[in-house]
Order: sequence, then structure tokens, then C-alpha cells
Amino acid sequence: MDKKFRVFATCDIGEATELLRKRGYEVEVYPRPEAPPKSLIIEKTKSGVDGLITTLRDPIDAEVFEAGKGTLKVVAQIAVGFDNINRADANRYRIPFTHTADVLTEATAEFAFFMMGTLARKMWSAERLTRENQWGFWHPYLPFLGDEVTGKTVAVIGTGRIGLAFIKKCTGFDMNVLCYDPAYENHAFVKAVEEINELRQARGMTKEKAWLKYVPFEEALKDADFVSVHVPLLRTGETATPTYHLFNERTLRLMRPTAYLVNTSRGPVVDEAALAKALRENWIAGAALDVYEKEPLPMDSPLRDPAIADRCRLMPHFASAARITRLSIDPDKGMAGRCAQGLIDVLEGNYGGDVTKMPYVVNKEAFGK
Ligand code: NAD
Repeated sequence: MDKKFRVFATCDIGEATELLRKRGYEVEVYPRPEAPPKSLIIEKTKSGVDGLITTLRDPIDAEVFEAGKGTLKVVAQIAVGFDNINRADANRYRIPFTHTADVLTEATAEFAFFMMGTLARKMWSAERLTRENQWGFWHPYLPFLGDEVTGKTVAVIGTGRIGLAFIKKCTGFDMNVLCYDPAYENHAFVKAVEEINELRQARGMTKEKAWLKYVPFEEALKDADFVSVHVPLLRTGETATPTYHLFNERTLRLMRPTAYLVNTSRGPVVDEAALAKALRENWIAGAALDVYEKEPLPMDSPLRDPAIADRCRLMPHFASAARITRLSIDPDKGMAGRCAQGLIDVLEGNYGGDVTKMPYVVNKEAFGK
């Protein structure tokens, strides 16, 4: 490589950083575990770096692109979600940004599934009994019971990569599935799951054949025992069907009082004040969250109310936090590998330098002929 590329990474992406250095890149890594202040990202960009490696914690907008005018060539995000990057601004400055879709799909989907089970079967409250030495007897229903997941009906909101992977897990538990997605209904997938459900029944693995179908949003909420959310964060003006506060007082009230909500998508998709109220007033049976309107979750969040702790599971944005998924340098396995490859593709002009052909670039629309 003739030119030595300079990169500023707002976090350490492990071995993949070394991989870039071995290719001759000069990589500066922000040394602290928390996000750097935006002013530092701007300062580093202004210093003339060719690329930025970013996380969902970093606001990347016109200010950053302006600072990198004439020098910044790519923003490589280590996440599938990119709601922290202002797409319109990136397009205006014609800066491609990449993400790490696919490699975290199964890890995120299984975590959502485990959260659903942990919540419904009250595993947190149950373990507390043991640890706090409150487990005094075996009794048919005391001190509490949970709800089974097997054979129940789950609404999957957003049937993109992670939504579909989540449905695959649910199929193994004989669950019925109500799908909702305003942009794309995957009927080939529905057919494949129906064939699997038929086979499971025909081979005596289950008595009743499970079903799945696409329905309108309200219907999905009304008829489900569980609701699992797998949408991107889209604010008003960004799409005809925004997801900001998709779950609010009105829509939470549509759910059954026995139903559970699971959110591994993005925090602002759920109005947390409304959710805390729904849990306090028993409009719904429980919620398990991995993401929050403000992260880390503030100490004064109503979701921390001890009165709802038994039915509110709170995870630290952890759904993709599995060893291979996060750190493998193989771009087909790990977010770190895919992030580095996205950066390399743009800087080294792979695919004949045609950004629209680069698989990890998101905003291809800015580079069409
Ligand atoms: P994707 O783009 O493949 O799927 C998203 C789906 O949501 C699409 O099919 C889209 O049509 C649909 N959608 C858009 N607006 C909708 C609406 N109003 N109602 C219902 N559906 C709507 O994305 P993906 O790879 O499945 O990831 C989904 C999101 O999950 C990401 O954008 C990210 O924010 C989040 N995520 C979180 C974690 C975590 O650690 N908690 C990990 C990975 C992804």
C-alpha cells in the first residue's frame, strides 16, 4: 500500500485493530471504555484522519463531516443500527458509512428469546429466593408461578434479519407467530416455517400444529402472549412509519394484561414513562429491556422502581455481546472483522472503487450515477 491511512477509533475493536496496523494503517484508539466527547471526535477528524471507527454511542452528523471536509473518506460503525449517524448529512457530504449487519443476527435473536424466557418464567425472582435463603419449601403455587413460553403466541414487530432469526427460535418451542412489518412481508419465510410446523406435527413432535401469519400492528398486539420488537429506530421525517415511541400509552394498552414485552431494538422505540406506568398499573404482565431511551440507564429511571422489579428485567445493551459475534476478525463471523473490512473496502478502493457495490456500505444512494 503506497498511502498510509490514518484512522481514529472511538473504541477498541480488539485484534481487528492489529489487523489494520499490520496492513500499515496508523490507528489511534480512544483509550477509555466510555464514549469520547463529541468535541474530541471533531478534533481528531479535523486533524485529517481518513477514517473513523464508531459505535452507536457516537453522534456523527454535519459537524463531524464538516470537520473532515476533504480528508474524511469513511465512517465504519461497529453495530447494525446506525441511528447515531445522520444519513442525510453523510449523503450531503458524500461520505460512505458502513455497518455490521448479519454477523450479530443470531446472537441478538437468541438473547431476545432468552430474555423472553427469563422474564416469563421469573428466573430472576426465583434465583433471588435461593440466594437470599428464602426458599423454604416446595409448594404447588407458592411463592409465585411463571408462565410457559412453549405453545404460546408471540408477536414479532419488524421481520428483518433479527426478527426472522427470532422466529426460527420460536418455531423450536411450538410458538404461534403474529408478524408485523409495514415495509416487507417475507412470504417465502412464512411458507418455510409452515412446512417445518407441518413436519413437526406429522412426526409426532407436537400435538397441535403451530401457525404464523402477517397481521396489522394493532391485531398483533391484541392477540399476543409475548411481543418482541426488532425494528430500527426511525424518527418522524425519516420514514412513513416511524418507530420512535411505537410503544406508548395507547399501544401498550392494546396488549393483554397477561402479555409480556421484550425490546432488544433501540430504547426510544418504547416510551419508558408509559411502560413504567403500564407495569405499575398492571396493563401488561411484564417487560424485558436491553436498550433504553438514555444509556446507561439513569439512576432515577422509573424502570428502576422496586415495586415493578419482579416483572421488569433490565439488561445493559448486551444482546450482541457474545465473544465470536463481537470480536472475531473474520468479517463473516464478527462485528470487529466486518467493521474493519468495511473500512478497508472504502479506503483501499475495493470493488473497483464502486461504493454502491461494497456490501457493508449503508448509504449507497448517495453514490449512484
Ligand atoms: P433489519 O433492517 O434487517 O430489520 C428491521 C425491520 O424492521 C425491517 O424489515 C423493516 O421493514 C422493519 N420496520 C421498519 N419500520 C417498522 C415499523 N414502523 N414497524 C414494524 N417494522 C418496521 O434490521 P436488523 O438487522 O433485524 O436489526 C434491527 C434493529 O435491531 C437494528 O436496527 C438495531 O437498532 C437493533 N439491534 C440491537 C442490538 C442489541 O444489542 N440490543 C443488536 C443488534 C441490532
